[in-house]
Amino acid sequence: MAAQEQALSTRSIEAGVYHTRQDPMCRLCKDAPETIQHITAGCKMLGGKAYMERHNQVAGIVYRNICAEYNLEVPRSKWEMPPRVIENDRAKILWDFQIQTDKMVVANQPDIVVVDKQKKTAIVIDVAVPNDSNIRKKEHEKLEKYQGLREELERMWRVKVTVVPVVIGALGAVTPKLSEWLQQIPGTTSEISVQKSAVLGTAKILCRTLKLPGLW
Ligand SMILES: [Zn+2]
Repeated sequence: MAAQEQALSTRSIEAGVYHTRQDPMCRLCKDAPETIQHITAGCKMLGGKAYMERHNQVAGIVYRNICAEYNLEVPRSKWEMPPRVIENDRAKILWDFQIQTDKMVVANQPDIVVVDKQKKTAIVIDVAVPNDSNIRKKEHEKLEKYQGLREELERMWRVKVTVVPVVIGALGAVTPKLSEWLQQIPGTTSEISVQKSAVLGTAKILCRTLKLPGLW
């Protein structure tokens, strides 16, 4: 809530509002003013690990719910990375798997692919946790990005393929479409569960970066 209200002492706020500091730039990358938005979804120094961890936690929730739906073994802890491929007679689930296609496509490694062998369908799922103000744009980007893969998979695997973006703002915002997207994914994934995971991930990033007292 403090982050949503811009009520945390970032360097940009210290320099521009409290006047207790001169340099407003990010303490980690020094490339941009240190705003809440920058720390929670824009810093290149956090991109590789911290944002990735938050992203994987959100994707992991969706993944586990799909596994449960098809009676496939669910990873034991939420920190355990899923296997790249698991399969039984009903379904095959790919996690962060690079798919070989005949024709070159712009993106061939979505977060999750679910192939339902009985229904002859495949669902391509990609997760993103951008700034709250970018959720609509990001949802659209994800849809566009995987159209080439969708066409290739329909041709190669002879299944009906749907692309499903799961986009949660770093501070918890979602688009009105999110519930429809989640309903297209096998199993039951609630909006609140993925929002909570994204927001907790963001809280952890803020606490660590701003050295706030708290759970981490
Ligand atoms: Zn930075």
